[in-house]
Amino acid sequence: METSLVQFGRCPACDATSANLLFIAGDRRWATTDKTFQIVECSQCRLIRLHPQPTPSELNSYYPPDYWKAPEHDLDDWLRQKYRRLALSDCIYFIERALAEAAELAPGARGVLLDVGCGDGFLLRVLASHGHGPVAGIDFSLDAATAAWRENRVPAICGTLSSAPLADESCTVIVMLHVLQHLYNPMEYLDAAHRLLAPEGRLIVQVPNAACWQFLMFGDKWHGMDVPRQLLHFRASDLETLLEHCGFEVLRRKHFSLRDNPSSLASSLLLRLDPVLGPLRRSLAKSKWRLLSDVAYLALVVACLPFTIFEAACHAGSTVILEARKKS
Ligand SMILES: [Zn+2]
Repeated sequence: METSLVQFGRCPACDATSANLLFIAGDRRWATTDKTFQIVECSQCRLIRLHPQPTPSELNSYYPPDYWKAPEHDLDDWLRQKYRRLALSDCIYFIERALAEAAELAPGARGVLLDVGCGDGFLLRVLASHGHGPVAGIDFSLDAATAAWRENRVPAICGTLSSAPLADESCTVIVMLHVLQHLYNPMEYLDAAHRLLAPEGRLIVQVPNAACWQFLMFGDKWHGMDVPRQLLHFRASDLETLLEHCGFEVLRRKHFSLRDNPSSLASSLLLRLDPVLGPLRRSLAKSKWRLLSDVAYLALVVACLPFTIFEAACHAGSTVILEARKKS
């Protein structure tokens, strides 16, 4: 990695004005722009960030219209749903344990289970089908919020968490999977979560973990970078510090996600096979080559599983998910 100490504006975490340039990268995933971007590391607190930050309208243009959709496979709907449930199973277990503990501490309370960045609402649909609820989703995308209700019967708000029309202390669990790294001001969302959570409520936060072996191996080609949509690249320790700063106490941490970690390694190795990769997918629309590429990608993901389990066991997994409660 190239390093040089120069001025890169102020660090949003510690306000330091100097940073190291780690590398320059473009949008490898969706090729929404020809521009290149600098990835810098604060010389004081070591938080990694995109520099300069794009304006909101620029950032919006870096998201394809259907970015929130799960990858489509040439499988029938029933099989696709089974696959999504399986891929989310460890995450669902993590959330259900938090729900159970919150319910034990506040018996009889039926607060909202809120998914921030809910996409099409599939996760909440599964959790509601297990008897949890009431559930609600929130998403920036109007199409996503609409799909959450139409496709999964999950009530969803289009907007930001800070302006969500929910009463203070009305939520039992707030889930934020892969949200904070895309925000200009993650503290604003964490402050809102702190206000909306019931006293015994739990916050579940997941982000890519920049302190992973995959980042060491692939650098700017690590799939978890997702330049230029990610404004911040947290290490697990950065996220813990941020949560502590916002009045949360971290109770649990897990460095593995069945949905994300093996696919992150597979896509870092062979991005062209990734089912989420829009242009290539469209060029292969419904052909036998697309089915073949799906099968090859799935085989690669399975082959990546042992390494990613070992990586996570060493606390260097490519994602980190934390459970936190409000400090008393
Ligand atoms: Zn800093």
